[in-house]
Amino acid sequence: MKPIDALRTLLGTDAVLDSAADLAPYLTDWRGRYTGSALAVALPRSTAEVALTLRWCAQHAVPVVAQGGNTGLVGGATPDTSGRALVLSTRRMRRIRSVDTANDTITAEAGCPLQEVQQAALAQERLFPLSLASQGSCTIGGNLATNAGGTQVLRYGNARELTLGMEVVLADGTVWNGLRGLRKDNTGYDLKQLFIGSEGTLGIITAATLKLFALPRARVVCLVACPDLAAAIALLHRARAAAGPALTAFEVISDDCWQLVRTQRAGAGAAGRALFAQPHPWLALLEWSEPEDAAHAQDQCERLCAASMAAGIAHDAILSRSLDDARSLWSLRESIPEAQARAGGNVKHDISLPLGSMAAFVAETGAALQALDTDLRPMVFGHLGDGNLHYNVGTQVGVPAAAAFSREAQINDIVYAAVARHGGSISAEHGLGQLRRELAQRTKSAEEMAMMRAIKQALDPDGRMNPGKLI
Ligand SMILES: Cc1cc2nc3c(=O)[nH]c(=O)nc-3n(C[C@H](O)[C@H](O)[C@H](O)COP(=O)(O)OP(=O)(O)OC[C@H]3O[C@@H](n4cnc5c(N)ncnc54)[C@H](O)[C@@H]3O)c2cc1C
Repeated sequence: MKPIDALRTLLGTDAVLDSAADLAPYLTDWRGRYTGSALAVALPRSTAEVALTLRWCAQHAVPVVAQGGNTGLVGGATPDTSGRALVLSTRRMRRIRSVDTANDTITAEAGCPLQEVQQAALAQERLFPLSLASQGSCTIGGNLATNAGGTQVLRYGNARELTLGMEVVLADGTVWNGLRGLRKDNTGYDLKQLFIGSEGTLGIITAATLKLFALPRARVVCLVACPDLAAAIALLHRARAAAGPALTAFEVISDDCWQLVRTQRAGAGAAGRALFAQPHPWLALLEWSEPEDAAHAQDQCERLCAASMAAGIAHDAILSRSLDDARSLWSLRESIPEAQARAGGNVKHDISLPLGSMAAFVAETGAALQALDTDLRPMVFGHLGDGNLHYNVGTQVGVPAAAAFSREAQINDIVYAAVARHGGSISAEHGLGQLRRELAQRTKSAEEMAMMRAIKQALDPDGRMNPGKLI
């Protein structure tokens, strides 16, 4: 019997795909930047079937590429071009195993889309705060494997801070059930932390126990026009001081980014209208989540905006008056990645910096890019409250996006040299995948790389878990 037929016997015929047409959707990443090839795609339905699959892979020396929603932005879930790897898709493992309202936790399988976890929490009047524009497609397994961030990190932390327990299948098929719902557990190494952010290079996450929170009574979203980035940072400090933990998000959007979304949405009703009478260099989007009521949140937000305008750090502001208003403002922010993709894409950087360096970084880098080529145009947005910018470099209106891609290496040199100068990180939330693997090896210290290699060697001695990614 051929090895692949043996896998079919273990999982069932419909759980192993190997025709070119069936494989195709699993072989290219969300950005369409990487296309690989694979021996087959396995679609296990349970942790036991993942264990059977990994034992089969160990027996036949087959590399394994875990794939959840395939929304990653660094090519981490795309196999290489050798055609030797098995793509293990968690799509069929999407059960919510339990919601424990007494303990404020939810346990979900790895392939459960993030949005379904949020909805299951909401059905029990709880909040699961992880929130990304890709939440309809990305999965809990992918979120943990990339330590996803998103828009609520400022208040609730990233995926790492939301995880209490985890179930993992190791490279040899061993199942580790670490699905604990404890907020305190000082009994040695915290093993789940190894798998968070490991991008499928150490094992397959099959389920996780996650923290839930009380639902806020009201949410007010406020879009504030700022004269420059330094003013937006000053606004962040004021908002933090005024709102404390009620400030659940603070995003920024550069005018170039904003105009792109607006132009693409023209004719789409309120979303496409010019919200402000004139363009402003930067917009800040704040979310105020209240334990009291909407009127209180709106009153607090209005006071913040009035004081900020008086101080000259804000020029104009729009406040949501209903949940629909709030959703509509968020949807403008969340449509930025897709708007950029539709415009032909750009050279992406997902960087973090100390807040004090942010304005200088943007000014210096913008000037250096202009000196390189006046056709280039930074399209910047991001989670300012977390010191995280998506510093994407596209082209001026009317110039094909290819002009930016043809200068990718020079653009990256400029951006990453500035990141290093200002003590930042080359990947704030998207991970390393294949896009930033080599760059990480150049920028991390020898000691750090040696410890990472030792961990990899201990858990995946044959180097079969997602080869060519991260490390
Ligand atoms: C429009 C858009 C907006 C986005 N916004 C954000 C954002 O705000 N913040 C953010 O952090 N990211 C964002 N992303 C990136 C992406 O959605 C996240 O990285 C997400 O966590 C990936 O989940 P996924 O299920 O799609 O994983 P995939 O893309 O399938 O996989 C990502 C990595 O995780 C590994 N992996 C997947 N499942 C498992 C598993 N069960 N066990 C072990 N390894 C696994 C894969 O091998 C791969 O290395 C965005 C993407 C898009 C397209």
